[in-house]
Amino acid sequence: MQMTKRIDGKARADRLVADVAAATAKLKAEAGIAPGLCAVLVGEDPASQVYVRNKGKAATAAGIASFQETLPASISEADLLALIARLNADERVDGILVQLPLPKHIDPQRVIDAIDPAKDVDGFHAQNVGQLWSGGVSRALVPCTPYGCLMLLRDTLPSLSGAEAVVLGRSNIVGKPMAALLLAESCTVTIAHSRTRNLPAVLRRADILVAAVGQPEMVCGDWIKEGAVVIDVGINRVAGSDGKSKLVGDVAFAEAQGIAAAITPVPGGVGPMTIACLLRNTLIAACRRRGQADLKI
Ligand code: NAP
Repeated sequence: MQMTKRIDGKARADRLVADVAAATAKLKAEAGIAPGLCAVLVGEDPASQVYVRNKGKAATAAGIASFQETLPASISEADLLALIARLNADERVDGILVQLPLPKHIDPQRVIDAIDPAKDVDGFHAQNVGQLWSGGVSRALVPCTPYGCLMLLRDTLPSLSGAEAVVLGRSNIVGKPMAALLLAESCTVTIAHSRTRNLPAVLRRADILVAAVGQPEMVCGDWIKEGAVVIDVGINRVAGSDGKSKLVGDVAFAEAQGIAAAITPVPGGVGPMTIACLLRNTLIAACRRRGQADLKI
């Protein structure tokens, strides 16, 4: 039985935020450029309010100007698109983030595709998706959660090339861009989902397993290959034995001990990396839009 390493995403994210803050300060001092991020919040979903508040706080702490547009859930799609057009034209804004989900009467893809791709710091615009899949990872703005997962994998493994990677989940936000990034690292990639036959056998092939399903502790210990590196993206709130609610991932963390070589905890794994990568993307967008050299962080 092997020791399973706990991959400390919080510590890695703190280092990345510090690097972003240092690069932002340098950009201001040397080029007079102050990067700005605008979050668009539609409606009053409490979880979305918390996410937007946390993103704003993190941006400010890194020296990035933080703006917020808060709109009622009743706003029409046309009015939201008009706001996006104003933000596209606003020179203070380098990154536009539309917090999802949007109310049902608004088509999220239409809104995402209205964002200037150069300001699309979530990396969801069709142009950035296309760049990512067509070999232009370094030219794309890459979705934050999968990029954070990739950074943790690069820190954990000496090389990803040739590894069998299984991504569980095929969302546009996590699963698909994660698969594209792993393919770009020369992994052999399988994307599994709710229609996959014999899921445990598919997962047991994985040297690298990324779970993003939103099903509490669904991946059991005996679905994991011995020595695999496991990245758990899931964030699920469940009732704890003390009656209080707690967060768990998509992987049964305790069962993975002694089987996986390394695993991210929930919380403290992928979550902090997502916000850190959003700040990184904002800084990249600011540099590219304003003709500065790309960052090496
Ligand atoms: P999503 O859009 O709901 O997609 C879930 C995916 O999982 C779908 O592709 C679905 O398959 C698949 N799936 C669901 N149940 C399954 C099952 N029983 N067996 C096999 N596949 C199954 O979710 P998401 O946005 O990708 O998020 C996934 C999880 O990551 C959630 O817990 C979310 O909260 C978390 N998350 C965390 C962060 C972070 O920063 N840490 C960021 C984003 C998301 P089908 O396509 O076939 O339906």
